[in-house]
Amino acid sequence: MNTNLVITGGRLVDGTTDKHLDIGIADGRIVELAQPGELALQGEVIDADGAYVMPGLVDIQVHFRTPGGEESEDIQSGAQGAALGGVTACVMMPNTVPTIDNVAIVEDVRALSLGAPCDVHSSAAITVNREGERLVNFKELYGVGVRVFTDDGWVVDSEALMRQAFLDIRDLPDAVLSQHAEESQMVEGGLINEGVVSRRLGLKGRPREAEALIVKRDIDLARETNGRYHVLHMSTLMALEHVIAAKLEGLRVTAEVTPQHLVLTEDDVERLGTSGKMNPPLRLLEDVEALRAGLICGDVDAVATDHAPHHPELKGTSLVTAAPGMLGVETMASVIWSEFVETGLMSPTDFVKRLSSNPAKIAGIKDHGNQVKVGSIANLAVFDPTQSWTVRGADLVSKSINTPWEGRSFAGRIRHTVLAGRPVVIDSSLVS
Ligand SMILES: [Zn+2]
Repeated sequence: MNTNLVITGGRLVDGTTDKHLDIGIADGRIVELAQPGELALQGEVIDADGAYVMPGLVDIQVHFRTPGGEESEDIQSGAQGAALGGVTACVMMPNTVPTIDNVAIVEDVRALSLGAPCDVHSSAAITVNREGERLVNFKELYGVGVRVFTDDGWVVDSEALMRQAFLDIRDLPDAVLSQHAEESQMVEGGLINEGVVSRRLGLKGRPREAEALIVKRDIDLARETNGRYHVLHMSTLMALEHVIAAKLEGLRVTAEVTPQHLVLTEDDVERLGTSGKMNPPLRLLEDVEALRAGLICGDVDAVATDHAPHHPELKGTSLVTAAPGMLGVETMASVIWSEFVETGLMSPTDFVKRLSSNPAKIAGIKDHGNQVKVGSIANLAVFDPTQSWTVRGADLVSKSINTPWEGRSFAGRIRHTVLAGRPVVIDSSLVS
């Protein structure tokens, strides 16, 4: 039984509104919005004084390593990190062991996420076992709620299969093909961005062109089939240019960028060590600058973290053997606020659009990222812009510690998170 909640003293920012309002919540829904101090509803008080109240954030690319990699993360630990990061809904990638490519596994994963402090949605693979040979049964998977299809970790190399996948999902509203866009022959054996750093370290690189090539090919297919297409963790200026052109044409194409690709470059890899290794890799300053400009003006639709925990045994080795990927879900809000809102580059309203409303729309998630109004489900985050903190991997709730932000301080932190009217984080701590 939910008790009534009242959120008082905050500035409500939901993509359309930006004003001080108190919020009354009962039975999981918003039942009242009132001028400060004028709520009629009584209930447990959540103090949002000096903070922003916004729709819960939505992270449409996380790896919670379930099934098969639970030594690095599981759905509960991943969802706890999400809640601490103000994320009320997320989309798990299907590159698990076994692969999430059939209805039974989707249902298993859903059962494990019941009661978690974040709504955990599962994507499913585009090809069986992500082997790039046979398409999954899109209709069946759609029937149990899957909206995002991706072979993430790997690209779908075959143009013919990708084309057929676009045709298969065409009549499924909100279904989308999300691509890890790196042409596989070009990046085979590649460890970091192909460039001066890879040459200096004598490491095989992953060329930037590998991304642009796939994004261009897929946009051509999306045009031909009127398909819905989303670029996962876009990392280059060239790919962004293709996405901008596709949007100008009116194609159904969207793109996300990770916090790390908006802040770090290949020059950070040596300092970060194995925590600086991911696919696609950290790129050049010109890429970072273009992606930042794209995020600010809206050419980049969303931020997503590619939250990729790896147990220290998989990560604490060398750049050559370490698994690729970085933590992100718990730190996303602080990184983006610090870099873009605190610095005056982006409004709080656009912050909400890029981290909540837009990703929810891309992934077909209905109850998150919405305008905060009477009747809607109370999925909310309260962000305190005055609370600065220093990230320590060991202090994050993830089972892994591979954060690229170790020792770095950020301005602003999630103070409270409310999931369907239930407080899951209060004063930056999990509610047990
Ligand atoms: Zn990926």
